Amino acid sequence: MKIGIIGLGYVGLVTSAVLADQGHLVVGVDVDSKRVEGLSCGRNPIYEPGLDELLAKNKDRLQFTTDYAKLSDVDVAFISVSTPTVNGEIYLEYVMSASKSLAKVLSKDTLIVMKSTVLPGTSRKVREITGREVVSNPEFLKEGSAIKDSINPDRVVIGSYTKEAGDVVESIWKFTGAPIVRTTPEEAEMIKYAANSFLAMKVSFINEMANLCERIPNCDVNKIAEGIGLDKRISPHFLKAGLGWGGSCFPKDTLAISTFARSLGTPLRTVDASIQVNNERPKRAVNLLKEIMGQLKGRKVCVLGVAFKADTDDTRESVALKVIDILKEEGAQVVAYDPKAKANVTMVSMEQCIDESEGVIIATEWNHFKGIEDKLRGKYVVDGRRLLDPSKMDLTKFRAIGLGTPSIQGE
Ligand code: NAD
Repeated sequence: MKIGIIGLGYVGLVTSAVLADQGHLVVGVDVDSKRVEGLSCGRNPIYEPGLDELLAKNKDRLQFTTDYAKLSDVDVAFISVSTPTVNGEIYLEYVMSASKSLAKVLSKDTLIVMKSTVLPGTSRKVREITGREVVSNPEFLKEGSAIKDSINPDRVVIGSYTKEAGDVVESIWKFTGAPIVRTTPEEAEMIKYAANSFLAMKVSFINEMANLCERIPNCDVNKIAEGIGLDKRISPHFLKAGLGWGGSCFPKDTLAISTFARSLGTPLRTVDASIQVNNERPKRAVNLLKEIMGQLKGRKVCVLGVAFKADTDDTRESVALKVIDILKEEGAQVVAYDPKAKANVTMVSMEQCIDESEGVIIATEWNHFKGIEDKLRGKYVVDGRRLLDPSKMDLTKFRAIGLGTPSIQGE
């Protein structure tokens, strides 16, 4: 097939590379001319494991452009532009603008596939605007394992108005061998929000358990997670206590669905509570540091990790950045290190970051920060991602999320 991909971010680029690898001809369109220029010269703007190689391998089947007219003869056009929230509400201008641009250039029978995360009813609007058949095919990939997730998803959700349109999208993803869930477009759109809300809620749940475990002698939230995670009804995934969720999806998607639900008179109280719990996490990390280090004014603190999670350079809604802001408000001098991501703070090597500072907060779960207990000797340390072995730490200068405080631990 000849496939158009509109929006060449984390989702669009991965989808482009994966579909080209399946033998399709892919035309990728983005309004960001710098991004397109770079991609056309083989420069990948994002860090995602395996993506450089997959793009290079399939370069003869991949074309990148800012010109929508190049999409005129595609069989299928995937929309994968950003859908942020503005003042708590979903901002659909990028989707609408892409839809209008598509309507002008597409041939009559091109199928539009909505990959962007959009509220129930949006695909219907795009169908009206474009006069083309639209299928909702939400994306569930995770940054850091996006290619693997795209090739080998847990399921593929296809929401269509007509069976024929859904069949076309099913034929594209058949190679994955994943279970296919056929739904209405509204159901498909809703599944995406329900999935992200549930995952966010699971993390906020274990984080609240972590808060409680910190106050109970001989209690480690990791053991609680292990003990409940083996229950098949609960499952061990997304039960890791830490500094909370960030990134380009959970924060905006939980907010968008919450606002949407309230507008329909059916507030999502569990989702709202999950957001509230999450919003308190960065402050909690700083408070844990203050408990062991005292006032932070004028003192140097190192933040390890600025990406919102490991194996990505994405810092959107990163909890680490919020921790940095709070540290600065407290008057601390902040330096940071991340293997891939950049932030608006002094960035130095990991060794320098630790050596120069009195306090250290591990804010992202990069593997690089495992086994560094020796390097941290003499420092005040908050392990926000539970990467360190507490038995190797000086417990008078150490706090870890979900682990009883040293004064009560082991009593
Ligand atoms: P992104 O911000 O990385 O990329 C979006 C791209 O769209 C940008 O390059 C931007 O320039 C481009 N764009 C904006 N308006 C455009 C237009 N009118 N025409 C052409 N290009 C346009 O976004 P992303 O992280 O890839 O997310 C895309 C969508 O997928 C969002 O709805 C998101 O919620 C959803 N999603 C993201 C992830 C993820 O992990 N990033 C996972 C699942 C779903």
